[in-house]
Amino acid sequence: MTTEWDAGRLDSDLQGAGLDTLAVRAGQHRTPECEHGEALFLTSSYVYRSAAEAAARFSGEVPGNVYSRYTNPTVRAFEERIAAMEGAEQAVATASGMAAILATVMSLCSAGDHVLVSRSVFGATVSLFDKYLKRFGVEVDYVPLTEPAAWQAAFKANTRLVFVESPSNPLAELVDIAELAQLCKAKGALLVVDNCFCTPVLQQPLALGADIVIHSATKFIDGQGRCLGGVVAGRAEQMKEVVGFLRTCGPTLSPFNAWLFLKGLETLRLRMQAHCASAQALAEWLEQQPGVERVYYTGLASHPQHELAKRQQKGFGAVLSFEVSGGKEGAWRFIDATRLISITANLGDSKTTITHPATTTHGRLSPEDRTNAGIRDSLIRVAVGLEDVADLQADLARGLAAL
Ligand SMILES: *Cc1c(COP(=O)(O)O)cnc(C)c1O
Repeated sequence: MTTEWDAGRLDSDLQGAGLDTLAVRAGQHRTPECEHGEALFLTSSYVYRSAAEAAARFSGEVPGNVYSRYTNPTVRAFEERIAAMEGAEQAVATASGMAAILATVMSLCSAGDHVLVSRSVFGATVSLFDKYLKRFGVEVDYVPLTEPAAWQAAFKANTRLVFVESPSNPLAELVDIAELAQLCKAKGALLVVDNCFCTPVLQQPLALGADIVIHSATKFIDGQGRCLGGVVAGRAEQMKEVVGFLRTCGPTLSPFNAWLFLKGLETLRLRMQAHCASAQALAEWLEQQPGVERVYYTGLASHPQHELAKRQQKGFGAVLSFEVSGGKEGAWRFIDATRLISITANLGDSKTTITHPATTTHGRLSPEDRTNAGIRDSLIRVAVGLEDVADLQADLARGLAAL
């Protein structure tokens, strides 16, 4: 930056630092106030010492802050921390997870380009592609996440971008990211991975060969259900385009939210480990219960992609789904009988949540599309939080008793 201030010893030397150290310290550049915690720059614009300095900053001749739609030091600290944790050259923060997906596709695709999307992505992602991007002449095709032959066959000469979510929501299906990355490279397409469910603690898609990684920071990065935000990370060549889109079109991240996410990242590993441990315990317990017909969790040996999950991820995540007896009525009775767990579709919170996907997150799909996606009326999703696992189990037992 342009200040004459030299932070010197006040900034940490992070050469060769591990993920936990980066999560706590990367991206922090101390000001002349020598603050220990990250500074929150709640400002929309910046001042200059003279008209000449203003002119030089506006023209780009001298680097420095101009306006917080372009740059903000707190947002930049969050971007640098995420880039360090994902092993990316650069990260760009956005106002929400959807803004991250929008900015990526709008900045990297043009009319006439073809995009491949895994079939089981987040609902709003499907709407973004089908309702909006198609209107601007981007061709979109959907591919079943777990079928390598279908991916192979789906590419066209104009396939520019491949967008996947692994693990998927709510059935925890996976794609072999390294294998798909090789295919994308051979076909000249960019591989984008929505890493929201794993976070860089459990999965680092860029190290597996993906080109771009996307997060809804709203979920585990915040971790306590307070703020919306998103981030895109990858090579400088592509991030330059994403920055250009954001500066002009405006879905930039609020500095307050960036500050909250910085603090969230510091405890991300500990939280993810606790989420995973509780989800594993509950998945194993649910699998033994009469009334539970099937449990979907990659940490179970019964999951068809358990081995791939072990290879590709450092943990199995916080989200599990299960089918109960009694169809939709059974699922609703189960949900209504809980007294501790929150009935809400959000996830990545310290508070455990319970959802009926067929009538909420996936309610707008046609019955046929829902069947194709494997979302049965009897399916319940639980995003496991940080409460005592015994209390969560007791609450789910109330649900089972109501079946
Ligand atoms: C929530 C979510 C999004 C969208 O993020 P917002 O912050 O709500 O805009 C995208 N992808 C996945 C996998 C999500 O769970």
